Amino acid sequence: MGAGPAGAAAAMTAASAGLRVALVDKRRFPRDKLCGGGLTGRAMGQYRAIFGREAPETPMVRRDCFHFHGFGADLGASPGAPPIHLIMRRDFDRHLVDCALRAGAQDFTGRDGSLDPASGTLSLGDTVLRAPLVIAADGVSSPVARHLFGAPYDRDRIGFALEIEHPEVDEDTPLRIDFGAAEWGYGWQFPKHCGTTIGVGGVLRRNPDMKAALARYVALLGADGGHKVKGQFLPFGDFRAQPGRGRVLLAGDAAGLVDPITGEGIAHALSSGALAAQAATQALGAGAPDSALDRYKQALDPIHRGLRQARMLRQILFRPALRPAFIRSFRNSRSLRGEYLRLMAGETEYGPLMRQMARRLPSFALRAIRGI
Ligand SMILES: Cc1cc2nc3c(=O)[nH]c(=O)nc-3n(C[C@H](O)[C@H](O)[C@H](O)COP(=O)(O)OP(=O)(O)OC[C@H]3O[C@@H](n4cnc5c(N)ncnc54)[C@H](O)[C@@H]3O)c2cc1C
Repeated sequence: MGAGPAGAAAAMTAASAGLRVALVDKRRFPRDKLCGGGLTGRAMGQYRAIFGREAPETPMVRRDCFHFHGFGADLGASPGAPPIHLIMRRDFDRHLVDCALRAGAQDFTGRDGSLDPASGTLSLGDTVLRAPLVIAADGVSSPVARHLFGAPYDRDRIGFALEIEHPEVDEDTPLRIDFGAAEWGYGWQFPKHCGTTIGVGGVLRRNPDMKAALARYVALLGADGGHKVKGQFLPFGDFRAQPGRGRVLLAGDAAGLVDPITGEGIAHALSSGALAAQAATQALGAGAPDSALDRYKQALDPIHRGLRQARMLRQILFRPALRPAFIRSFRNSRSLRGEYLRLMAGETEYGPLMRQMARRLPSFALRAIRGI
């Protein structure tokens, strides 16, 4: 249920394994989804593994130079970095859905309905679907998570992001990331084939006026601000340790799988969707559908561990007392910047990055992250 990256990856994986799959979404595709549209190396790797193609058949811009800024300071550029691909989610998500349907999933997009998790019954107007297992990939405001747990997310911990789509772009517009453009968050300028996406996002309760943060950021970039502002919640590391209940598995944003530092969610959405489908396939194959949730939870362990480590690192990055040390480290250490870029490329994990930072930060920060 839900046909964004998590739902499409789940449908693709389950259909390829020979299961009967209904791909349900209340929206018909193509549809817009608020997003920077940055596909890191990690996301591209997941895409290749799940969809079996080298690159998505959608317009993309490839960039391999990042300009980093932090709390007003220029932290330097990183030419020759592992590339990031910039897409519009309208095109990308439609492509993923097309792939899943071609793999054999049945098309129930454009149909709104309600799920009874206890019986696995989904009512879609005149159609009623019954399934032994349901993968709920219905986004950050997941109606299914609300039904199961009383709320889709914790308001105290949730992130929030605002974006504008600026219609102009030129060759010289840099791909830029500004730590601290929002409190406990960052800003981004992503040049694409059809314009430039500019946004800010951070922990909601620390940003009572996110609109002002966006206006400041747009002004800092020298862009004109008269464009439509759109906003959406972002789980930002607030993941569900128990990713579902009974025979319902939550994937992607519905399970809170967004990196709390980079705001990246597409890679974990793809991978969790696929892992949920694999767990479902194994559980059904063993004649034990009730075992799917435990199998899935175990498979998510590495993602959960990375998100926990990122949450700890965020304390160092955004705590005002530690900022000067962070700025110094990031600006002066090419290898630290390189390690961060390798992290986004999916070539390393948070553990090694944290150990490298620990060598450079003052001893009180070191004590805070000792043992990781
Ligand atoms: C402003 C912003 C910028 C971001 N930038 C980036 C970025 O550059 N790179 C990156 O990796 N991540 C980024 N993210 C995060 C990324 O967008 C999400 O992590 C990702 O979309 C999660 O995918 P998903 O499939 O879990 O959910 P979604 O993509 O949200 O898909 C959920 C689907 O469920 C459907 N749905 C909802 N309710 C129902 C219902 N009742 N019945 C049926 N279907 C339903 C929706 O229509 C939707 O199609 C950004 C997020 C925001 C808010």
